[in-house]
Amino acid sequence: MTQELLPVPCPRCGEKQNTYSGDFDPDHVPFGPVLCMACGHAFERGEYLAGLERATRDRDTRLAERRRGPR
Ligand SMILES: [Zn+2]
Repeated sequence: MTQELLPVPCPRCGEKQNTYSGDFDPDHVPFGPVLCMACGHAFERGEYLAGLERATRDRDTRLAERRRGPR
């Protein structure tokens, strides 16, 4: 696995509850399946990867803020 998998918000309902099989790898072809647990939306590869990138960036921002300590 090349990347840590973080919950990606569903483009349809906004829930961050992805379901995928245990050996899921976003770089694998064919992609997925990744489903939204709440509404059943099947993620397309592009929207999943874009969401994952954003989630990773947000997580890194939060970690950096925590390292700086309380303001
Ligand atoms: Zn959904």
